[in-house]
Amino acid sequence: MKYCCFDLAGKAHCGLVESVAGRDEITRVLLTAPEDSNGDLEDIPTRRIDHLPLAEAVLLAPVRPSKIVCVGRNYREHAAELGHEVPTEPLIFLKPPSSLLPPGGNIVRPKMSQRVDYEGELGVVIGKKCHQLAGDEDVDPYILGYTCVNDITARDLQNKDSQWTRAKGFDTFCPVGPLVTDEIDPWTGVGVETRVNEEVRQQGDTRDFIFALDIVIRYISQVMTLFPGDLISTGTPSGVGPVMAGDVVEVTVEGIGTLRNFVADV
Ligand code: MG
Repeated sequence: MKYCCFDLAGKAHCGLVESVAGRDEITRVLLTAPEDSNGDLEDIPTRRIDHLPLAEAVLLAPVRPSKIVCVGRNYREHAAELGHEVPTEPLIFLKPPSSLLPPGGNIVRPKMSQRVDYEGELGVVIGKKCHQLAGDEDVDPYILGYTCVNDITARDLQNKDSQWTRAKGFDTFCPVGPLVTDEIDPWTGVGVETRVNEEVRQQGDTRDFIFALDIVIRYISQVMTLFPGDLISTGTPSGVGPVMAGDVVEVTVEGIGTLRNFVADV
């Protein structure tokens, strides 16, 4: 199942996304947000709308997380490009929900930073409260679905500060979308690609994670309770780099779609 969130006559709605004649369309309005349904997507009451092509919808962020948990340095080549050792346990940090940005929104470069980077990543949306999972516990029942995330980073401030709250936390620094799907399997490998002005900058595959998704989710659950709607961003492949005002940044995750955003100065 795929869903998105969109604006309909000035109100936010979630909508079921289905392929109709090879084109993604919003076919129904979901009366309950998927994250409020305990992950049981089939039981959501729906009402029909006139089919709305996904490409014509005014999309909103498809998640309402209480927190955004990110994994740093989860691809070997990316750790190397920033001059870091491969971590021996997952490195996690938070982005505030206020950093969320919908598809099509402007990533705003703050005056405080001289270097703002893209980081294309696979996002995981939690569907069920998750706390202190056992070492061999299956994480699949806790996953609502997957989306694209751009973990925008003020690289100069990240290097300057001893922790990353400022560098990762500016408003608009967490583009997410365009939709959430449970129809991919990151364990078997999905491609993660970032393009700037149509030029490919990052190409990774989730098979190359240093820490697989089940290890990451069990690890985070030892630290903090994950709630339905919480977002985990799983780390970026090599090839990070800066963006400037006027750039168009696209993150494509295989089987999900493309998250497209624009860059502007404050
Ligand atoms: Mg990142």
